[in-house]
Amino acid sequence: MSSFDEYILSIQGLILRFYTYEGIVEALDGVNLNIKPAEILGLVGETGCGKSVTSLSILNLVPPPGRIEGGEITLREGEKTINILEQHEDFLRKIRGNLISMIFQEPRAYLNPVFTVEEQLGEVLVQHRLGELLNSTIQKIDMELEKADKLKRHLLMLHKKLCLKMLKNPRSLSVRVASKIPLVNGFKSKLRMEIRKKVVELLKDMEIPDPQRVARMYPHELSGGMAQRVVIAMALACNPKLLIADEPTTNLDVTVQAQILHLIRVLREKYKSSILYITHDLGVVAELCDRVAVMYAGNVVELADVYEIFKNPLHPYTRALLESIPRPGKEFKSIPGTVPSLINPPSGCRFHDRCQFAMEICNKVKPKFIEVGKDHYVACHLFGGGK
Ligand code: SF4
Repeated sequence: MSSFDEYILSIQGLILRFYTYEGIVEALDGVNLNIKPAEILGLVGETGCGKSVTSLSILNLVPPPGRIEGGEITLREGEKTINILEQHEDFLRKIRGNLISMIFQEPRAYLNPVFTVEEQLGEVLVQHRLGELLNSTIQKIDMELEKADKLKRHLLMLHKKLCLKMLKNPRSLSVRVASKIPLVNGFKSKLRMEIRKKVVELLKDMEIPDPQRVARMYPHELSGGMAQRVVIAMALACNPKLLIADEPTTNLDVTVQAQILHLIRVLREKYKSSILYITHDLGVVAELCDRVAVMYAGNVVELADVYEIFKNPLHPYTRALLESIPRPGKEFKSIPGTVPSLINPPSGCRFHDRCQFAMEICNKVKPKFIEVGKDHYVACHLFGGGK
């Protein structure tokens, strides 16, 4: 694959297995993938091909009995490169949210029903952007100090001092004690006002009408589309380098889907985050993505620019996927057979028993993932994958 300098995230030869009572599920079999800065990369494939576990691997959040048994996931942060799979849990917790965020299919499942939108978004901001919020609170106090009389000056100076202490150590004893004393704890209300302002700004960015009112709502009061916008706001609250969106429009109706896709495009321009968009809908891919990675049975089988994939698909699976899109006046084609079980998966190319071009070599040798045109990668013996 091209130089790592061009990417913010690179996955090389990722192997993931699940050790179940039925047998070993070979979920990912050497996945190769890279994501460029500020691009939307679509990850497509049928259900069960490994899209979601790839995204969980990026966050090192694969649940047991899953085990990552090979490969590298490298994230670029300025001049540094971070091998995610070698980091300790404490460090990974900082990466999650700050550098990589995720949005899921079921927004309501990720919102706490007993807290308002403001409380939940505010919590994310406090966890990840407290320093920035405290600095803007201190600036506000400085502005108030210019106009304050002598008595108020003393109180404002105390508030400023406590904000500075909180900047150094948010859990310090003096901060905790001061939070309980009336008047002195005014620094907390000032901080809360800054948080509220930021929450409303974020909701406005999500194109939510009347954001002040929505901030006071509980999750059960939100429509599906609104709840998904709130979850996107939570994911973008820390301005992550990479946003992973796992089929975020699956359960929404078509008009709301279109609004969310439009919003994701607008947010990419504003926040300059890269987006890994997981979907099985090729219509969404055509509408939204810059590049596309096609997955089949635990492997990325083709990776290219979105126009290239639609104009010149090479891998027989990509071609079959495109042919199976229903078109008016055209005969509907489906891909024969089903995705194989990944307990004892097919040998060689895992697509061989469904492929109309299968050759003798195909069930014996796994094709290599090679560059066949500029930035166009494919894993198939028809294109020299055996070399
Ligand atoms: Fe078909 Fe062989 Fe290519 Fe696999 S390697 S997609 S079986 S032609």
